[in-house]
Amino acid sequence: MIRNAGGLATDDVVRSLILSTHLLGTRSIAIIQHTECGLLSITDEQMRFSVELEMARCLPSEFSCVHKPGQHLANQVKRVRENPFLSKSIQVRGYIYDVKKGSLREVQVD
Ligand SMILES: [Zn+2]
Repeated sequence: MIRNAGGLATDDVVRSLILSTHLLGTRSIAIIQHTECGLLSITDEQMRFSVELEMARCLPSEFSCVHKPGQHLANQVKRVRENPFLSKSIQVRGYIYDVKKGSLREVQVD
């Protein structure tokens, strides 16, 4: 399990997935985001302003706050699927975990 804020397929996440599929035999990848995510409640600009008040240096270039959850998830799935170092035979699917219901809903990604 690889976790980060926003369920992002960052370069480091993709690096770990490449290692996992090549060395550990991983054949299926599920990217799971969730409802009521804190990243839905703020924009990158607001986050940057808030953090800059605390500390002006070493600010990440972006926080990837979420405005369109389904699209955000689809973008992460596509990013993993399209990586040339991951075999096309590896299944990559996206899900949203509903915090209130405790259920997973698959998001279809073309
Ligand atoms: Zn969250």
